[in-house]
Amino acid sequence: VSLKLKDYIEGFKQGDTTVLAQAITLIESQKDDHKKLALQLLSAVKNINQSVILGISGTPGVGKSTFIETFGLELIKRGKKIAVLAVDPSSGVTGGSILGDKTRMQELSQKAFIRPSPSGKTLGGVALKTREAILLCESFGFDYILIETVGVGQSESQIASLVDHFILLMQPGAGDDLQAIKRGILEHADSIIVNKADGDLVKKANITKAQLESSLDILRQKNIHIHLVSALKKQGISEFVDELFKEANSHDFFSKRESQEKLWIEQILEDALIEALEANKKYHAQKLKLIDDVYNNNESIEKAVEDIVKGLSYGN
Ligand code: GDP
Repeated sequence: VSLKLKDYIEGFKQGDTTVLAQAITLIESQKDDHKKLALQLLSAVKNINQSVILGISGTPGVGKSTFIETFGLELIKRGKKIAVLAVDPSSGVTGGSILGDKTRMQELSQKAFIRPSPSGKTLGGVALKTREAILLCESFGFDYILIETVGVGQSESQIASLVDHFILLMQPGAGDDLQAIKRGILEHADSIIVNKADGDLVKKANITKAQLESSLDILRQKNIHIHLVSALKKQGISEFVDELFKEANSHDFFSKRESQEKLWIEQILEDALIEALEANKKYHAQKLKLIDDVYNNNESIEKAVEDIVKGLSYGN
């Protein structure tokens, strides 16, 4: 990455997606000078645009990439500029991304900006970097930013705190075993898509929808809409987009943003404090002493930790 701040700004103005991709690479970088430039860039792009940010989640095989392809093309047909960031919560572990593979969204990849979201060492790290990538995409001027994530449970709450509207994909038959559906995941959902409602699966899909509607209190509380869709046959998508557009025009669609921002302030501050502490020699020495006190001097962990925290003088 050899661009300067003004090159990024100019590239964004020109709508140059290569520059956007480089900007996302920049925020991922661990190098000190890159980090410094990334901070400047993030300050420069703050609050420039307001895109609609959608989370799309579901277990592997449910049809996320097929849905995003069909749904994304429908949004484009209606004049929207879209970006897709694929979050792979396991990427920190595997070192590679199983998502964001453009061959999975062949036609869409020619008409939209698609990229694996920056990876991170931890789930929290992934979410922090994803947030920064979203800020960049917002200022770049996309109308819709789609955040794809594998529905593994833990990642949902992190991603939910980044999006305006969370779409959960399910398959016909999944309603048979509602107990198995994690309440935590449903809590975050704003829309549920029962995908694969085609061919032999139509009947089963209808049953699943009815079961979801009748048995989940949480859906009634939040007034979550359940849609029958076939991403493969491109059915039910345009109706879903109609409803989404209606909602996106409503008063509360962006109402979560303020509380989300507060949450991120806490999270980012906490991360930065820990990083600063870890880099502090005095703290390190005290931490070693703590371990020694606990093991060799039979000190309680609670007491030893309290001593360290008391010893920290704010401002040094
Ligand atoms: P992902 O792992 O959630 O991204 O799922 P994919 O989009 O890769 O889809 C998994 C499989 O389900 C593929 O074989 C798709 O062709 C199939 N599939 C996806 N959507 C539909 C659909 O609407 N109807 C049917 N019958 N199959 C679908």
